[in-house]
Amino acid sequence: MGSPLPVNHFSDRRLAAQAMRRIRLLAQKVPGDAPVPVMEVCGTHTHVLGKSGLRELLSDKVEFRSGPGCPVCVTDSADLDMLIRLSLQEKILLAVYGDLLRVPGTEGSLLEQKAMGARVSLVYSALDALTLARQNENRQVVFAATGFETTAPGTALLILEAEAAGLKNLSVISLHKLMPPALRLLLSAGRCRIEGLILPGHVSAVTGRRAFDFLASELCCPAVVAGFEPLDVLHATALLLEMAAAGRCAVLNAYTRVVGEEGNTAALEAMAEVFAPEAALWRGLGEIEASGLGIKPRYAAFDAKKRFGLVPNRAAGGSREACRCGEVLRGAIRPPECALFGVKCTPDRPQGACMVSSEGACASYF
Ligand code: SF4
Repeated sequence: MGSPLPVNHFSDRRLAAQAMRRIRLLAQKVPGDAPVPVMEVCGTHTHVLGKSGLRELLSDKVEFRSGPGCPVCVTDSADLDMLIRLSLQEKILLAVYGDLLRVPGTEGSLLEQKAMGARVSLVYSALDALTLARQNENRQVVFAATGFETTAPGTALLILEAEAAGLKNLSVISLHKLMPPALRLLLSAGRCRIEGLILPGHVSAVTGRRAFDFLASELCCPAVVAGFEPLDVLHATALLLEMAAAGRCAVLNAYTRVVGEEGNTAALEAMAEVFAPEAALWRGLGEIEASGLGIKPRYAAFDAKKRFGLVPNRAAGGSREACRCGEVLRGAIRPPECALFGVKCTPDRPQGACMVSSEGACASYF
C-alpha cells in the first residue's frame, strides 16, 4: 500500500503528477479494458472532480460516477411539496437552507411560492432558526432540516436549545438522511456496477470510519474516506485502484487529519438524544428503512410533522417528466446522458434537483 500524500503539500503539482501516473499504472493492472468505474458518493467530491478537471483528465482510466451524496438532490419531491404546502399556511415562517429554494417540486419551487408571497426565509445554520423564532414571536417558525450526518447534530442542538429557552413558536421538519443505509441499498443486489467508493469526508468525520466497515465485510466493495482537495481525491482513487488490482476489499481512511475511527462523540450523542432512525424517502432510491432521522417522542413538541399534521403525498411525488435525476443519483447514468442536459435544463433554469446545487452532479458536469 502506498504511503499517504503529505497533507502540507496538497497543492503541490509534482505530487499531483506522481499520483496521476500511479493511477494510470494501477488502472492497467485492474482486469478488463474499460475505465475502472468508481463512485464518488459525496456532492462535494463531485464538485471537486469537475472544478479541478480530474474527471476529464482521468476519463480514459477511471469512470467517476456520482452517488446519492448531495443532500438537496436526494430530497424527494413529495417532501418538497409538503414544505411548499406548509409555507402557504397562515402565520408560518419556513426556514430553509439556500439550495432547497430552487429545487422544482411537482408544481413549482419554494422560490416561486416566495415570489407569490409565501413566507420563506434562508438560513445558513440550524441555530439561525432560533434567532428567527425570537424575532417573529407572532409566527410559527418551522425549520426544514435537510442534510446527512453532517448537519443533523446542528439540528439536534437547535431542538435542545429551543427546549432550554422554552420557545413555543419553533419546530422542525426532519428530512435528515443517513448515508450508510443508502449505500447498503445501492450496492446490494447488484444495483450498481462499481469497483470502489470514495466516501464523504465530512459525514465520516461525524460517523467515524468504522461506520462504513460493512461495505467491505458484507458487500465486498473497497472504499476510501477522502478529503476535499484534488490531491485527496487523487490519493483516494489510487488506493481504490490498488485494492481493485490486488482483489483486496477494505475500508481505508485517507483523511486521517479530520476523520477518526469512532467519529465525533459529542455530535453522535446529541443526535442520539433527539433523533431515532426511521424510514425516509430518497429521490431516485425510494423509501429506505431506517435511513432517516425522526424526532423522538420526548421532543414531540418540536416536531412540525406532529404539530401541523404533515404527511407527504407520496403518490404525487416524483421528478419532472423526462428528468433523470433518479438515475444520476444511483450512478446508473452520467448527466450528459439525460436529453434535457444543457438544452432545457441549465443551472439558470433547472428542471431537476441535480442541476440546482453546485454539489449536484448535473450542475457540476454543466
Ligand atoms: Fe434532471 Fe436536468 Fe439532470 Fe436531466 S440534466 S437529470 S433534467 S437535473
